[in-house]
Amino acid sequence: MLCHLRDAWTRCISEDGELGWTAMSNNQFGLVIHGGAGAIDRKKLTPKREEEYRDALEQSLKAGFEVLSRGGPSLDAVEAAVRVMEDDPHFNAGKGAVFTSAGTHELDACIMDGKTLKAGAVVSLKSIRNPISLARLLMEESPHLMLDCAGAEAFAKEHGIESVDQKYFFTQERWDALQRVQEAARKGENNFVVSDQDRHGTVGAVAVDQAGNLAAATSTGGMTNKRPGRVGDSPIIGAGTYANNATCAVSATGDGEYFIRATAAHDISALMEYRGMSVEQASQSVLEKVRKLGGTGGLIAIDAKGGLALLFNTNGMYRGHVDQAGKFVVDIYR
Ligand code: ASP
Repeated sequence: MLCHLRDAWTRCISEDGELGWTAMSNNQFGLVIHGGAGAIDRKKLTPKREEEYRDALEQSLKAGFEVLSRGGPSLDAVEAAVRVMEDDPHFNAGKGAVFTSAGTHELDACIMDGKTLKAGAVVSLKSIRNPISLARLLMEESPHLMLDCAGAEAFAKEHGIESVDQKYFFTQERWDALQRVQEAARKGENNFVVSDQDRHGTVGAVAVDQAGNLAAATSTGGMTNKRPGRVGDSPIIGAGTYANNATCAVSATGDGEYFIRATAAHDISALMEYRGMSVEQASQSVLEKVRKLGGTGGLIAIDAKGGLALLFNTNGMYRGHVDQAGKFVVDIYR
């Protein structure tokens, strides 16, 4: 079952205490974030843990809002919002990234500028603290769009980008998840025996700025127990990430293989461009296409007029939104 956030948001953290949904009008800025469709089983989420997630999402929104409210570009806003989540061990990106089947970490990230259709993507990084900033640098300082591990890390070194030891990414929780997923695999159990939280995660942000420019950014550790070298949808333009001023900006989370096969992010843009669908209709249609293929996950999207979509077909999706009135909304479940 698809869940639309407009029906689901119940908690507003704005000062006025107003609850619910705010649609933006033309020429206003806005930012939407997700922290992955791998939400913890609701019954297992303690109030303390829930508060931690909500605070982390709020910090991410604040970082992006700060940029947009002073008239900064959407590219800066999505990068800032994603960096906060990369640095936060609660999310599967940067610190807190999931483990590969070899017990290592490999990170993918992508950023796209809706105004120029320029993009930067880095895959299978092993030692970059903030992959999203490396993707941005690649977009701006290189003729190339995508670099893999060795090339990307050499490029990072040339530009003085901060690198860290693999140990930096370690969290006990992700290690335990690897053990559970590997145990399920040994027993030949279906993937779906494993919880969403153990399988999924990724962080992403989409924004429209005061000039009407759109941007999208996605960063991930990928899927728990992935083979080393496996690349998901997050760094693939048109699959997990896409931005085009003519239509929308999208960031996805979920079973990457299915989002790639569905060319999910670009399909949303294409449905808007060629069929005249709203961002909400197009997003629903594409997530349904992913589901029919057998994929689970979610996505966030925004258009230049502030239309939003926040959809998922999992238990929940860590997510949040802020508009130019400074109304912050965060939520996890339906
Ligand atoms: N989409 C990510 C990947 O396939 C993982 C996720 O969001 O759950 O690498």
